[in-house]
Amino acid sequence: MTRKEAESYTDNFPPLTAELERVLRKTLPMKYLIIDNDGTAYCTACEEKLYPGEYDSSVKHRQTTFCTSCDETVTAIYNYHSFRGSVVECKSNVGVFLSDGKTDNLYIRFYMVTLFFNAREITPHIALNEVQRYLFTANQAFRYGPKYAWESKNGYYTKVVTGWGLRTKFGEPVFPNYSGYSFVNFPALKGTACAHSAISENFGSISYLKFWQAHKNVEALIKCGLYGSVKYNEDMIDWAETEPHKMLGVTKDVMRAIRKGQIGYRDYLRIKEEFPKITNLDRLIETNKHIGYSFGILDSLKKKLKTDKYEIAKYILKQNVNISDYSDYVRIMQSFNADFSDRQICFPKNLKAAHDRAEAMRQARELEEKAKKNAKLAEQLNTLKLKRKILEFSIGAYFIRQPDSTDEIVVEGQKLSHCVGGYAERHAKGALSIMFIRKKSEPDKPYYTMEVSADGKIVQVRGKRNIAPNKEVEDLIKGYKAYLEKIFSDKRRKTA
Ligand SMILES: [Zn+2]
Repeated sequence: MTRKEAESYTDNFPPLTAELERVLRKTLPMKYLIIDNDGTAYCTACEEKLYPGEYDSSVKHRQTTFCTSCDETVTAIYNYHSFRGSVVECKSNVGVFLSDGKTDNLYIRFYMVTLFFNAREITPHIALNEVQRYLFTANQAFRYGPKYAWESKNGYYTKVVTGWGLRTKFGEPVFPNYSGYSFVNFPALKGTACAHSAISENFGSISYLKFWQAHKNVEALIKCGLYGSVKYNEDMIDWAETEPHKMLGVTKDVMRAIRKGQIGYRDYLRIKEEFPKITNLDRLIETNKHIGYSFGILDSLKKKLKTDKYEIAKYILKQNVNISDYSDYVRIMQSFNADFSDRQICFPKNLKAAHDRAEAMRQARELEEKAKKNAKLAEQLNTLKLKRKILEFSIGAYFIRQPDSTDEIVVEGQKLSHCVGGYAERHAKGALSIMFIRKKSEPDKPYYTMEVSADGKIVQVRGKRNIAPNKEVEDLIKGYKAYLEKIFSDKRRKTA
């Protein structure tokens, strides 16, 4: 078919029958049971009416239930729920296979199906918008796109499809919601140029059909359930062959393992390439299970342990662990400067136990480091405590004091349910000061917490659950602010 001929089909695609429109509506991912004021319900799945007593009337708005007519799971929508404007509820993208009954042309019309509710209307609307058309003839494929025009209606301009035009590039259909799509009406494939494409078996795409036209023997692989293998390894397949294993370039045994799902085609090629000396198929499959594509980890282990990759593979297979588990063990041991030339350390008899021991050591070291850090912080804090004495303040029924320890800051944060705990370290280092506001009548009860910057500015004051200060506390803060201004200007004068 020439392009000119293909062009003549542009506006002559077989029509959608009422039955197919129904099939399209059914592809919507959600079904609804619309319940009117008088209790009459309408199911969008089977398009049947149900009367009170025929469905579960205890169902609430937006809850799911079953349609007693078609058994579908449906979401209940009550009439009293008034939508504002137009509300889109769900969408689906669908390609419909069509034939003309005269030629072997396969026509595909792609639709976006949209279900939406309008304000003050009980029944939903389902719109079918055609977005793309395809024509497949023997060894050829054409794509058509819509032509749009702006039409004025009641003073508003709307975009409407006025016809279709042949596109220069073949490609996947484009949907306004950028989602995938499914196909319906597979029986229409019969008698067309794509009758034997096995597209119904692999739920493939438009691109697959085009691919199939160029490599018809892909069908043999599809029938083995190997579409995934084909899709990503097109260049590795010998298209001159017709028998599946010869097409893939593997033995019948390997083919059997691939078909059984014991190993992927690409996985097989990769592991075989990485370990050419392993000739036993079961062993290759096992190696693939434990190593996968982690050849980078394998390589770094090889260097760290100064050993060869076959030895590592043999070891992890024997221990029945994944390469990442082994690598984890090696990493911990390395952090302790372990001597990997010692085979007991490099390849422990029981890796799981050795890993647990190493992990326990690592945790103990972490705790020790934390304790050291805390001790250092406590020491810094004690030096600062004397300097901070001057920030303490008392007026009326309240007083302001510094925390005794960083732990006290953490406890304050927990008791008042705010995040002051996160400031403990900066307080200990003197980057800022956390001060506690207390009532003299309840000196030990956390009340408000305050952050004072290193230059004496009040940054924030927070009570329980981050509540802002009340009137009395506001007054206290005012007095404290004046006090801070005075001591910090004295300080500046001294240093100046
Ligand atoms: Zn129903």
